[in-house]
Amino acid sequence: MTGSKPLITLNNGVQLPALGLGVFQSSPEDTVGAVEAAISSGYRLIDTAAAYFNEREVGEGIRRSGIDRAGVFIETKVWITDYGYDATLHAFDKSARKLGVEQLALLLLHQPLTTAFDRTLDAYRALETLLADGRVRAIGVSNFMPEQLERLLAETSVVPAVNQIEVHPYFQQTALQRLHAAHGIVTQAWSPIGGITSYGGAERSAFDDPTLLEIGRRHGRSATQVMLRWHLQAGRSAIPKSVRPARIAENFDVFDFELSGEQMAAIDALDTGVRGGPEPDSITLAAYGRPIPEE
Ligand code: NDP
Repeated sequence: MTGSKPLITLNNGVQLPALGLGVFQSSPEDTVGAVEAAISSGYRLIDTAAAYFNEREVGEGIRRSGIDRAGVFIETKVWITDYGYDATLHAFDKSARKLGVEQLALLLLHQPLTTAFDRTLDAYRALETLLADGRVRAIGVSNFMPEQLERLLAETSVVPAVNQIEVHPYFQQTALQRLHAAHGIVTQAWSPIGGITSYGGAERSAFDDPTLLEIGRRHGRSATQVMLRWHLQAGRSAIPKSVRPARIAENFDVFDFELSGEQMAAIDALDTGVRGGPEPDSITLAAYGRPIPEE
C-alpha cells in the first residue's frame, strides 16, 4: 500500500477511495474552499449528509475544482426525518439536486431509528430501489450497532456495502468491526482522528496522546497522520474533517510510511471502550427530527 492511494473494493465491486474528506460542522462558507483544497491535494472521496446542510456547497466546491465530477466519489446520508419508503426516495432527489449530480456513489442511512425500526427498514428498501435503478452505485448505513445490523441483514436483500461508525484510537468497536468483516461490510471511520475527543475542551484529546506522538516522532509525522495510517493499514476507510488547506494536505500525506506491527498493536491498546458520540438509542424523531429543506 505504501506510496499509492488505496482503494477499497466494496461488496458489489464498486471501488471506494479509502481516505476522504468529511464536512460535518463545516460551515457552508468554509465547505466550498475545503472541498476545492481537498481535490487539489488529491482527495477523491467526499463525505457529507443531508443533515450537515452543506450538500450544495460540496457540489459547488467540486465544480470550482475543475475536476471531472465523475472522478469524485460523493457519499451522502439520508436524515431520520426522511425515513420511510417514499420519503427516502424523495430524500435522494433532494440530495442529488443540491449536490448537482444525477447519480450518487454511495448513499447511507445516517442513523438507525431504534424506536421506529420498521421505518428504518422501509428507508433501506428505498435505497435498494435506488440501487436497482442505477441512481446510486452502492448503499449502506451508519451508526448501526450489531443488533440493528443483524436485523437489517435478516429483513432486507442487499448487504450494506459500508457501515460508517465512530472509530478512533480511544473507541474502536472491535466486535462490530468483526461482524462487518464476516459479512463483507466495509468499516468507514467517522471522527477518525478523534475530533470528537477534543470538542468542548474534552480532557483527553487524541491529538495530544503521548503514544501517538511518540510513534509519529519515529516516522517524522504528526499524531493525526499516525492515526490515519493506522486506519488504512487496518483496511478501514477514514474521512477526516478539516476546513484548513494545510491540515487537509497533511491528512492526505500518509501514503509513504508504514507502521510496524508493534506500533499498530500499541494504538489498538489505546481503546477505552468509551463512546464519544451519542448513544444510538438516543437518536429519536422527537429529539432529532429536524426537517431537511427541498432546496
Ligand atoms: P475528525 O476526527 O475528522 O476531527 C475533526 C477535527 O480535527 C476538527 O476540529 C478539525 O479542525 C481538526 N483537525 C483536522 N485535521 C487536523 C490536523 N491535521 N491537526 C489538528 N487538528 C486537525 O472528526 P469529525 O467528527 O469531523 O469526523 C470526520 C467526518 O466523519 C465528519 O466530518 C463527517 O463527514 C463524518 N461524521 C459522521 C458521523 C455520523 O454520524 N455518520 C458523525 C460524525 C462525523 P479544523 O477543521 O479547524 O482543521
